[in-house]
Amino acid sequence: MLVSAVLDQGPDLEGVRLLLKNVVNSLYEKEVRIFHKPLDFFKELGISVDEILVKHKGIKEIRSKIWAKENKTNPNKYNLFTDRTNQVLGYAVYRWGVPLCVPYLLEKDITKRGENAVEPLVEYIESWDSAEIMSQQVKDNERYGLGKAIGDKAGHLFAKLYIHTFGIARRKDSAFGPLSYELPFDSNAGRVLFRTGFLLNCAELDDYEKWEVIQRGKGKGGENYIRVTNIRGKKSSILSLSKKIMDAYVKVCVEYLKVRKRRPSSIEIQQVPNILLLDTEYGIGDLDDGLIHIGTNFCYNHNNPRCEECPIKNFCLGYNERKDLILDYRT
Ligand code: SF4
Repeated sequence: MLVSAVLDQGPDLEGVRLLLKNVVNSLYEKEVRIFHKPLDFFKELGISVDEILVKHKGIKEIRSKIWAKENKTNPNKYNLFTDRTNQVLGYAVYRWGVPLCVPYLLEKDITKRGENAVEPLVEYIESWDSAEIMSQQVKDNERYGLGKAIGDKAGHLFAKLYIHTFGIARRKDSAFGPLSYELPFDSNAGRVLFRTGFLLNCAELDDYEKWEVIQRGKGKGGENYIRVTNIRGKKSSILSLSKKIMDAYVKVCVEYLKVRKRRPSSIEIQQVPNILLLDTEYGIGDLDDGLIHIGTNFCYNHNNPRCEECPIKNFCLGYNERKDLILDYRT
């Protein structure tokens, strides 16, 4: 799951997931059992690198034309290596190898202390106060953190995979439940949240520009670019005025995310979805699944998304009133 969270980004998520699946299956067929013996990835680095190259080439043949048509671009630009480079070694060691090392190092440390390492990664993950804090530590912990190999979005995606998608959390308390981590803000989710007007309910266009979430003329061909990840940590002055919303936010922070001990004075925009889902049957994972579905099947990142067929068109500000939200911005 750690490897999956690190890799799960870029313009073609379907291709990325296929790459992960095909490479892992092929490595296991060759007895390179990377999730059971992480060091085998390095011991058999030649095989690991070859499999990534071969499977990437195969997926490019299948996906590049479909991807290029959906995104109005050139199929030759299709590249699933996370940093859009052509160098497989850096991609393999950094993006696959670093997360594979975490359980290995945990096991080594536990053994060194003379303790028994049954499921070192699970025990480590669930030792934190909440899934939100765990998702930050997966990146930032001095010894076991992945650092720049993983972004904030991927840390939240890892929490989603662990709690929602695979449902393997042993802890049953609210701090490891459906509202215990922030929504992974990737470009697909961010585009839908922007076009539908959700983000404009939290702050003004000028605020997003000031925070460099909206970067005028910085996109491809001089388009306005939305850098969703820059929303992280930004506060909603609009929603913070409502006592009812603030009361719900305090509950989210104290009982679920466990990120504050005292009453906060303003609301972080990235935590607004947790407030909206409070006391509903849905969690952050459900919302994210929906946003990804809309973002990858209807709300394409160009001027002609499939609005007429989109299941949320009746609620969409961009579709109903503000065409500029669709036409003037790219993620
Ligand atoms: S109605 Fe159109 S702009 Fe709105 S979310 Fe759906 S596809 Fe995107």
